[in-house]
Amino acid sequence: DNGVFSLLAFVIQNLEGQKTVCFVFIDSVVFIEQFLAPKMQELATDNYVITASNIENDNMVFATDSTENEGLQTLPLWLLPDYKVSVTLKGSSAATLSKKRFKVNLLWIIVLITVLVLGFVIIVRNLRKEMQLTQLKSDFVSSVSHEIRTPLALINMFAETLLLDRVRDEQKKKEYYEIISKETSRLKNIVNKILNFSQMETSKRSYDIQLHLIDEIVRETLNTYSYHLENKGFTHDVIYQSDGYKANLDSEAVTEALINLIDNAIKYSKSDKRIAIKTGTTSDGVFVEVQDFGLGISTKNQKLIFDKFFRVTQGDIYNVRGAGLGLSITKSIMDAHQGKIELSSVYGEGSTFRLVFPKA
Ligand code: ADP
Repeated sequence: DNGVFSLLAFVIQNLEGQKTVCFVFIDSVVFIEQFLAPKMQELATDNYVITASNIENDNMVFATDSTENEGLQTLPLWLLPDYKVSVTLKGSSAATLSKKRFKVNLLWIIVLITVLVLGFVIIVRNLRKEMQLTQLKSDFVSSVSHEIRTPLALINMFAETLLLDRVRDEQKKKEYYEIISKETSRLKNIVNKILNFSQMETSKRSYDIQLHLIDEIVRETLNTYSYHLENKGFTHDVIYQSDGYKANLDSEAVTEALINLIDNAIKYSKSDKRIAIKTGTTSDGVFVEVQDFGLGISTKNQKLIFDKFFRVTQGDIYNVRGAGLGLSITKSIMDAHQGKIELSSVYGEGSTFRLVFPKA
């Protein structure tokens, strides 16, 4: 059998200088199986497969494990020149391993790029938000200053005129006093709005929730407010349809929310000066709604108007004064009642705001 035996010949010399030629016959297969195999096993560990096989016919004599992969490296055994040892990676060939490594690297690159892109998007969004907030804040300061300055100037002017005793006509005097009183209450409203807003922001506003008929609150609000409406040239219709259902309400806060809606209906109407107010019920709620036939709100802005400080500053609305707080206060009041505020509006035709409270 080819390569079964190897013959080793060597010369040894003793101390007197006598030389002896020695021959050693090695049974290659036995040698590999008995002496080489344990060493190969030890070297292979868990990562490699080491095989010993015949060079000529490739007959395998010993392998540390089964493998179908080609050898990473093959070398002849110097002691047994008819035999060779091969080292292979366990489980995968070099090609599949590099493919796998490439895939893992690619995955990492994709993950890294995704994280980078996400980070970039978040930074840009935050920056945009920050810029929008800065813009809103500066708009807020300018519109509030404007709101406060006008009544202050009027009060100042008419008070000085009256003080100087220049007005002789009693009717005129009464008119001036009325203006002073009206502007003072306007100032009071603005300051109250800002105070309420700041209380809400710091969650300090407390509510006195009791069982109420929504109709009662609407009736009382209109009793005191209809004069103001008529003064502004508005007519209003009221329909009460809440069928005696009660809800848990803070009457003062709900009145404030209702007045905010009526004020907006006045501010954002043009020539059609009508306001329709209605109470009613849904399957699990009691509602009051305020409808106007004014400017209406575009679909895009409908999502934004409940944000604090947000105001529409284009088109016909540009000249209308406000601080952009009314609707965000109203929404916050509705949240405190576990209620909701619904809006249906057609740009150019009018809007309906509905406050829905859970039925008691
Ligand atoms: P303000 O009226 O002080 O600006 P609000 O929070 O009450 O603040 O309203 C926010 C914005 O919503 C307003 O600037 C206005 O553009 C829009 N808006 C509110 N109510 C109406 C309405 N009834 N009709 C048309 N637009 C409205």
